[in-house]
Amino acid sequence: MTGPIPNSSATPRTPRVATVGTASWDRLVAVDRYPSPGEQEIVRAEVSAPGGTATNTAVGLARLGARASVAAAIGDDAEGDSIRRGLEAAGVDTRWLLARAAARTNRATIVVSGEPSDRTMYWHPGAELVRGDPFDIAALFRHDVVVLDMADAPLRRFLVDLPAHTVPGARILGTLTYLADPALPDGLELALRHDVVVGRERDLLAVTGTWTLSDAAAALRFRMPGSNLRAALVTRGAAGCRIVTAEESWQIAAFEVPVVDPTGAGDAFVAGVAYGMAQRWAWPTVGRFANAAGALATRALGAQSSLPTLADVEEMLANGCERPA
Ligand code: ADP
Repeated sequence: MTGPIPNSSATPRTPRVATVGTASWDRLVAVDRYPSPGEQEIVRAEVSAPGGTATNTAVGLARLGARASVAAAIGDDAEGDSIRRGLEAAGVDTRWLLARAAARTNRATIVVSGEPSDRTMYWHPGAELVRGDPFDIAALFRHDVVVLDMADAPLRRFLVDLPAHTVPGARILGTLTYLADPALPDGLELALRHDVVVGRERDLLAVTGTWTLSDAAAALRFRMPGSNLRAALVTRGAAGCRIVTAEESWQIAAFEVPVVDPTGAGDAFVAGVAYGMAQRWAWPTVGRFANAAGALATRALGAQSSLPTLADVEEMLANGCERPA
C-alpha cells in the first residue's frame, strides 16, 4: 500500500485519547551483543529516562498532535517527579497521575543489544493503578479512544464492563501484554470486551491458546460475532503488522529504518492505532500509520526519545520505504 493518509493534516479534529496503565523509570544500557552467562560485555551507551507503556503511548499521542491524558500510578520519589515533569513538558494531561504515598515508582533495567537487535528487561515492581483508585470515569469515557494497558485485572474487568452502560460511543483499545498472563483465567474473555486489541504475536497466541497466527485469527473470528471486538492488530517487529477483522485480514509491511533501540516501538504503534481509530480511518491505513510510528520510535536509545511527530510519520508514509515482505 502506498499513498498519503486521508485527511490527516486537513482534518479539523484533534483526537482525544486517554491511556490507563503503567508508568516506569527506565535505565537502558546498550551493548553490541548479549554475553553468554558468566561472560562480560562493554557498555556502549547508557541512558536513564521515563518509560512505562501507558506513559510512552500518551507521549507518543501528544507528539502526533492528539490531546492525551494518562491515568497511572507513580511513587512519591524523584523518579515519579521526573515522570510527571516529562509528561507535562510533552503536553500530556496528568490530572489522573496518582502519586502513591510511601511507594516506589516502577523501574526497569533494559539491556539493548545491537546483534541481534533486541532488548531484555529486568523489572523492579513499584506503584500500579488498581481498582478503587480515584479517577473520573465519566470524563475518561468522554475521550474518543481509551487505551487500557494495566497490570491490575480487577481494574481492567471494571473498565471494560462500564462503557456499554455509560457512554456507548466510547471506544476501547486494549493491549494484550497483561491479558497473556497464564495465571489470568479470563484473558480471552477480557480481550473480547475491548473494541480493538493490539499486541505481540506471542501474546495473542497465549491469549487465544493457539500455536500459529492463522489459528489465533480463526479463534478470534469465531468469537467476534456477539462480542465487542472488531479488530486485532498484531505487531511483528521488522515484519510489520497483521490486522484481523471478522471478514478480512491484512499483512502490512514494516518500514526500513536504522534501528538503534526497539524499546517503545510497541507503545508508539499503539499510539498510532489510537490516533487512526479516533480519525476513523480504514484498517489498512491505520496499520500503515502505526507501522511508521513504531519504526520511527526505534531510532534512538530510550522508549520516548525518538517518538515521532505527525510530520515525521507523514514524511515516512510519503517516501513509502517499506521493507520487502
Ligand atoms: P514491541 O515493542 O511491543 O515488542 P514490536 O517489536 O513488534 O513490538 O514493534 C511494534 C511495531 O513497531 C512493529 O509492528 C513495527 O510496525 C514497528 N517496528 C518494530 N521494530 C521494527 C524494525 N526493526 N523495523 C521496522 N519497524 C519496526
